[in-house]
Amino acid sequence: MSVVVIGAGPAGVRAVTALLAHGIKPVWIDEAPRAGGQIYRRPPQNFRRSARALYGFEAGKAERLHRAADDAAARADYRPSTLVWDIADGALHVAGFAGTEAIPFEAAILATGATDRIIPLPGWTLPGVYTLGGAQTALKGQAVGIGKRCLFFGTGPLLYLIAYQYARAGAEIAAVLDTSPAAARRAALPLLLANRPMLAKGLYYLAWLRARGVRMESGIEPLSILGSATAAGLRFRDAAGNMQKIEADAVAFGYGLRSETQLADLAGCRFAFDETDRQWLSEVDMAGRAVGARNIYLAGDGAGIAGAEAAEAAGERAALALLADRGVGVSQARCQSLERRLARLRRFRAGLAAAFPFPAHLARRIGDETILCRCEAVSAGTLRASIGGIDATEVNRAKAFSRAGMGRCQGRVCGAAAAEVLSAALNCPIDGVGRLRSQPPVKPLPVEAL
Ligand SMILES: Cc1cc2nc3c(=O)[nH]c(=O)nc-3n(C[C@H](O)[C@H](O)[C@H](O)COP(=O)(O)OP(=O)(O)OC[C@H]3O[C@@H](n4cnc5c(N)ncnc54)[C@H](O)[C@@H]3O)c2cc1C
Repeated sequence: MSVVVIGAGPAGVRAVTALLAHGIKPVWIDEAPRAGGQIYRRPPQNFRRSARALYGFEAGKAERLHRAADDAAARADYRPSTLVWDIADGALHVAGFAGTEAIPFEAAILATGATDRIIPLPGWTLPGVYTLGGAQTALKGQAVGIGKRCLFFGTGPLLYLIAYQYARAGAEIAAVLDTSPAAARRAALPLLLANRPMLAKGLYYLAWLRARGVRMESGIEPLSILGSATAAGLRFRDAAGNMQKIEADAVAFGYGLRSETQLADLAGCRFAFDETDRQWLSEVDMAGRAVGARNIYLAGDGAGIAGAEAAEAAGERAALALLADRGVGVSQARCQSLERRLARLRRFRAGLAAAFPFPAHLARRIGDETILCRCEAVSAGTLRASIGGIDATEVNRAKAFSRAGMGRCQGRVCGAAAAEVLSAALNCPIDGVGRLRSQPPVKPLPVEAL
């Protein structure tokens, strides 16, 4: 049976481990050079920072996952540093150091994870401005900081975690500014209790930052990133409505995560709008079987944001579903236990969404002159003009006429905000403007690969 697994994060590692345990040797692909995914990202092999320094409280989990990944990589057909850029006609189309290849498959598990979700604002394209995840990747992957005096803003649990990690690494933290109101976090507490250890860690990061006198504010509205040649700080409105400025030599921002769904789209999965993630997601059953695409399974953050623990459980569950669908005997008790764990973690995820709501109102009123699509230098005003000028009332049509989302990132960075801008301009619900269709190649690749 030819099985492929895309992604070597927590979901992919556990999926491959389960397949191997049942006698299936999958082709296992990840564009990163080393397995671990986003949360357990590993630096190059010759780096010497300890797991404790890299992953903090998660060091034990990271080391366990890395051991499992290394063991699985030795037994699977593992292809690191390899990008899957298309899925078509029952084959993956990949590009790596060895060149390009089409890999036919009978069944595929997509464990492609997530990326940051941003909302453009004046100054966001200046050097010295990063996403929160990008700032963390620099620290974890290369042991470098984005600046000496760093300002972090946006919302979500990563906001506080990354500020904590930067402070521990020796950076001065200019401020941690959250768009979500403190009251939202208090109201979400009953749901957050579904994962007490995770909640306790979050509270610890907050308390640690507070104890060191780091300036932290909630309910803020970011207005513009300061600076002309490079980032120099943030101008924002505080919760009381006062204008404020804070100087910094680097800025990182983000508003939660968005699932990487392009490959699922190209594989023919059916999509539905998900209110919690405020995103179109592939429809899956409890075990991760995709609706609409035979022999495709989804696991981890790529199927909806739920965090690393859920990703591990979902990866194993999807592999067991794949095996069972092909007549391989699997433990029903194990399947049920994984599903129970996933249900509990989804309650926690709902709590996070309530505690750190995506500030859609900011996306909907991005100023006309602000660059929305940085790849093609398209402003929010140009996108809005495309509605009146050529009746672009749907995201794909608006993309075709304005070029917003047509560049290198294929809308992965600006697509969510572009949809908000369109829906606000048209005065219709966000799902009314449709879903940006994925196009190959899903990420840039050398021309010779085509
Ligand atoms: C930048 C970033 C930092 C994060 N840091 C933390 C953190 O510190 N703590 C925390 O709790 N959560 C963090 N998260 C959330 C984290 O993503 C999840 O908790 C967890 O890693 C999800 O596991 P996963 O296996 O679903 O996906 P991931 O860990 O994201 O793994 C997905 C893998 O798929 C690969 N991939 C994707 N597309 C392709 C393709 N087309 N071809 C080949 N390979 C592909 C990627 O290279 C990646 O290795 C972070 C998320 C992001 C985006």
